[in-house]
This record gives sequence, structure tokens and C-alpha cells, in this order.
Amino acid sequence: MPELSHSLLAWWEVHGRKDPALKPWMFTKDGRWPEPHEHLNVLECWIAEVMLQQTQLQVVLPYWTRWMERFPTVLALAEADEQEILLLWQGLGYYSRARRLHQGAQQFLRTYGKGLSDDAFDRWPRDLESWLALPGIGPSTAGSILSSAFDLPFPILDGNVKRVLSRLSASSTPPARNSKELWVLSEQLLSREQPRNFNQALMDLGATVCTPKNPSCQQCPWSEQCAAYASGDPLAYPVKEAPRELPFQVIGVGVVLNDAGEVLIDQRLNEGLLGGLWEFPGGKQEPGEAIETTISRELQEELAIEVQVGEELISLDHAYSHKRLRFVVHLCQWRSGEPQPLASQQVRWVQPQQLKDFPFPAANARIIAALLARLHPEEGTAAA
Ligand code: SF4
Repeated sequence: MPELSHSLLAWWEVHGRKDPALKPWMFTKDGRWPEPHEHLNVLECWIAEVMLQQTQLQVVLPYWTRWMERFPTVLALAEADEQEILLLWQGLGYYSRARRLHQGAQQFLRTYGKGLSDDAFDRWPRDLESWLALPGIGPSTAGSILSSAFDLPFPILDGNVKRVLSRLSASSTPPARNSKELWVLSEQLLSREQPRNFNQALMDLGATVCTPKNPSCQQCPWSEQCAAYASGDPLAYPVKEAPRELPFQVIGVGVVLNDAGEVLIDQRLNEGLLGGLWEFPGGKQEPGEAIETTISRELQEELAIEVQVGEELISLDHAYSHKRLRFVVHLCQWRSGEPQPLASQQVRWVQPQQLKDFPFPAANARIIAALLARLHPEEGTAAA
């Protein structure tokens, strides 16, 4: 284990992603990689680690930059309006992460008071349990925050690290059912002298060398000890679960316009994957049902309105991790009934140009672009 740890750190000294333009939260305010045991801004590390939970580094960076400009302190985040938070998160997906950051900041303030800032390092918790008590923080995110910010020896086990360690050990069990063994391995490998650098090195190895589809084993500091490489087929690891067919569902969506040219949107309930976001109303197509019938039925059931379902505006497919959806979107003309939020938090008539001010799920961006292009064809893509 010490040999593996040393060889990884030696590789990282030369090849690690130590670019302040790529991971600004990992650098001191004067632009240096921190010395051992030197502190970093805890809030910056916390936000980055939560954004990185399901998203790649390059995608996260502009979101993180905008977020830290707007919410540079725990107090600013705790006191923020949730709609603004969701708007800043728009496009990153897994919106519950944003809401939990908001709740976490409020919980921090209740526990530690308003003086919590990056200057007050002694007031930030340094134990795993305090971080795990926050919503949306698991052991890997907590370990990453503590090792990044304080250089404390806590192991990590995110998706990339699971892949690397599954290959290193040529584990015959899929990672989802092998996390106990992988945690032990991550802990055993962890350098006690340089935990921050070691965890960064492990993540960098997974992101740049031991990649999912094309591992560069010739460049890997662990190639001599790696059991997957020794097997001659590193791509056979991690062992995969038997594939399962994702359920498929057609969703009828109504873009409802009234006589004033306003469009109807509703805000989803807070539960679930896209909770709290805005959307165009609609719902699942029943077996054998025409899509126009689906739309008028759903608008009647969920908003208590009658509409004239018009022509199709756009049809688009969207895959989530657990299901595939096809949205068939029709323009509709409102006929009667005051819209009621029977299955949502609230409903609103807005001018089409105002849609950009509301946080929508990613799939809706194309619906909005299609609507604006339909309403203002002369403006072409500029309207979108
Ligand atoms: S030798 Fe290849 S498979 Fe093994 S850890 Fe390195 S890159 Fe991954």
C-alpha cells in the first residue's frame, strides 16, 4: 500500500491537474497550491464537491464561479431566495442538490452562528459526523471537503475512484455491491502525510488515465500492480450489473396561450428529481389514448381548465438514469376555467419573454426555444 501511495503521488506531482483555472477552490487566495495542513476556503470546497457529485469538472467550473460570486458566504446562501438558487443551478441537473445546499447553509447558521466565514477556520467542523448531518452530504463528499479544505486524512469513494479501485483489485463484484471493500481499499491507500494531494491524485488518475472507455495503462503509475491490467482486459472492470431495460413513457405537454398572448406555466411540488422547478403542464399518455386527448385530460385534471389542443410544437426525447421520456408538445388555446394548482405549488400566466426568468428542467429549454421561434419567426435563433 505505501508503495502504491508513493507512486501515485509521484505521478501526480508531474501530471496532476494543478491548474487554478480548472479547480480554483483548490488554490490559496494568492494562487498557490496549498502547503500541507494549510487551510482552504471551506465554503468554496463544499460547493464544488456537491456540484461535482454527478457532474464533470469542466461543466461545473462556470456554475461554481457564478455561484461563488453571488453567494460568497454561508449567510448569503442561507438567506437567498430558493428560486434564484434554482435558476443559478439550471442545467446542472439533480436539483435536489441545490435545495440541500440551501438547507445545509441554514442548518450551519443555526449551529455555528453568523460568524462562520472562511476566516473563521476554527469554527468550521472537522469531523465526519458534523458534515454527514447536513442534507445531501455522503461520506465521499464529506471526506473530499475535509481533505481538500483542511488536509485531513479522510478517504473518498466517488464514481471515478470506484472504477479505479475496482480495476486495481480486479474485483469480481459490481461496485454498487462492493462499496465496503472499496472503502477499505481507499482508506488503506490514503497517504497520512498528504491526504489532500493523495485524494486529488486519485481523482485525477480516474479522470485522465484510468478513464471509463479508454484507460491509458501505459501511462499509469499503478500498471505493475494493477490486477485488471495484468488480466489483459482492463475494460472488463468494473464488472457491470446485468443491463436492465429502462421504462419508456410518452408525456403529452400543453403550451397554453391565452388571448393576451401569455403562456401558462406551473411550479412542480418540492418532492422528487425536479422538485420546485417550473414546467409546461401535461402528463402521461394512457394506453391507446390520442396525444391530444392526453393533453386536454391532463390540463383538466391538474389545472381545471378547458383548452383547444392545436398543432404540434415540438417532440423530444429525454433520458434520465431510471427512465426514458418522450415529450410531445402541442400549442393550446385557453378556452375556460381559472387555472388551479391542483397538482403543483402554483400556476402563472407569463409573457413568453419572461420564461427565461424561471428555472426549468433541461428538457424544457428546447420547448421554450421552439415557442419563441414560432411566435417570432423573423428573429430566428436570436429569439431562442
Ligand atoms: S493500469 Fe490501467 S486499469 Fe489499472 S489502474 Fe492503471 S489505468 Fe486503470
